[in-house]
Amino acid sequence: PTRDAGQQPESPSAVLARVFGFPGFRGLQQQAIDRVMAGGDVLLLMPTGGGKSICYQLPALCRPGMGLVVSPLIALMDDQVAALRQVGVNAAALHSELEPEEAARIKSDLAGGRLDLLYVSPERLLSPGMLDRLSRLEISVIAIDEAHCVSAWGHEFRPEYRALAQLPQRLPGVPRIALTATADPRTRSDIIDALAMPDAEVLVASFHRPNLHITARPKGSELTQLLELLGRHKDEASIVYCGSRNKTERIARSLRERGWPAIPFHAGLAPIEKRAGLLRFRSGEPVVICATIAFGMGIDRPDVRSVVHLDMPDSPEGYYQQIGRAGRDGERSDTLLLFGGEDMARARHWLDQSQAPVAQKRFMSQRLESMIGLAETTSCRTRALLACFGEDLAVDCGHCDNCISPLATFDGTVAAQKVLSAIYRTGQMFGALHIVSVLRGKQTEAVKRHRHDELALYGIGKEKSDGFWRSVIRQLVARGALKIQGEYASLALHESVARPILRGEQPVMLSEDAAATLGSVTSASP
Ligand code: ADP
Ligand code: ZN
Repeated sequence: PTRDAGQQPESPSAVLARVFGFPGFRGLQQQAIDRVMAGGDVLLLMPTGGGKSICYQLPALCRPGMGLVVSPLIALMDDQVAALRQVGVNAAALHSELEPEEAARIKSDLAGGRLDLLYVSPERLLSPGMLDRLSRLEISVIAIDEAHCVSAWGHEFRPEYRALAQLPQRLPGVPRIALTATADPRTRSDIIDALAMPDAEVLVASFHRPNLHITARPKGSELTQLLELLGRHKDEASIVYCGSRNKTERIARSLRERGWPAIPFHAGLAPIEKRAGLLRFRSGEPVVICATIAFGMGIDRPDVRSVVHLDMPDSPEGYYQQIGRAGRDGERSDTLLLFGGEDMARARHWLDQSQAPVAQKRFMSQRLESMIGLAETTSCRTRALLACFGEDLAVDCGHCDNCISPLATFDGTVAAQKVLSAIYRTGQMFGALHIVSVLRGKQTEAVKRHRHDELALYGIGKEKSDGFWRSVIRQLVARGALKIQGEYASLALHESVARPILRGEQPVMLSEDAAATLGSVTSASP
């Protein structure tokens, strides 16, 4: 946009209308921009699609000098630059994938003061001479995009981001705005510390996405459960997250055999396959992407109608980010999370084995437990999810599975005691299948061989279905009374939690969810 020297500088709202064609600001944009325009620092937390970019692009255009944007994602930088050029903003991106001539041209534009906005990867920014070159220019604003990458606790940690702490010394007096869609309070304070911006105004947008209809279900037959949801989204785009690369391929194959336009996507694919997959996803045609969490960053298709998790994510942040890829266009979209006791136990086990520093393990473990709590909650899921980010929704969402059909809870203390005793009496070396057989009094091979039909508690759970007992076991795993160990997934008591339950000192409220869904599936078998 041409801004003639000597002319009155344009206000951000005027540039918003003239350059971007938007009639007004949304949400916290105005507040963030006002602060940066006045020379102050900002930490802006806004969900993806909330409109963060405008908050540095406008100050970059309205303050004297060039805006500098640090971004870790080359594809995203290129997209932004292309979009800005289309509306006449002189933007460029410096990163490792440029042709040498292109890089030289950008550097000459830079030195000549011809750029409105420069996107740069952290590596480039910190490369020899770059900061010197920048310090000779007038800089209007420094934006640090994906600022959560500075947090060593997060799953997207980028060590180079740590060096951004030197920016205030190297480029003094330039207002900084850090932006992220990751909302947990821990990351928030990490960003402020690591970027050395103690005076930053922290602006937190609501992360509530009312068009997302959240459902979570105990894992039964995952393919059946998946097909049931996809059936409501024929000829639309869906993302199915899987816990492993193998599984993305397996699920995609099963779906294709049933006529679904499914493709796998994971970091192990050849670049050409990845590109083809992305192209197909972006083309707007109906597609079901079966992906690991490698699929996500920088993906922007507005009309994804459903996001399914066949395996439980390891934190509410990851979960929120992934389901957030549905319904960017604001239209109603469905999300389905499948969870099982084994997933939970396995995630805990891995965390336990991890070599990470103790404090970090504790943090990761807190997040995992919040995720498990989210899966097992019997109250409004939207509300529970937002509470993980410190946001308090005033009323229940009204459209998650728990709001639509509230789960009945019952006093499960006696049932829990039966399960715990059965596990204890059989030596804490059997899996759920065997424990259920013992409780229901089945004459299986294993029961006879171990003479478990001679135990006093053999058959004490006859009156309930297999599904009921599996659900009780899963819920006891979820609350930490049971752990699953070893290659045979044997169940063992977690003493400190299990003992008070066995002694009757700790009542146990359980939900009837799985009893309903799984009971009908498995009670048919003998
Ligand atoms: P984020 O970076 O937070 O994910 P973007 O900055 O990419 O979000 O903005 C998301 C979408 O919202 C873009 O299509 C953008 O053009 C649009 N948008 C941003 N601000 C406004 C506004 N004030 N009015 C209308 N549309 C806006
Ligand atoms: Zn709800």
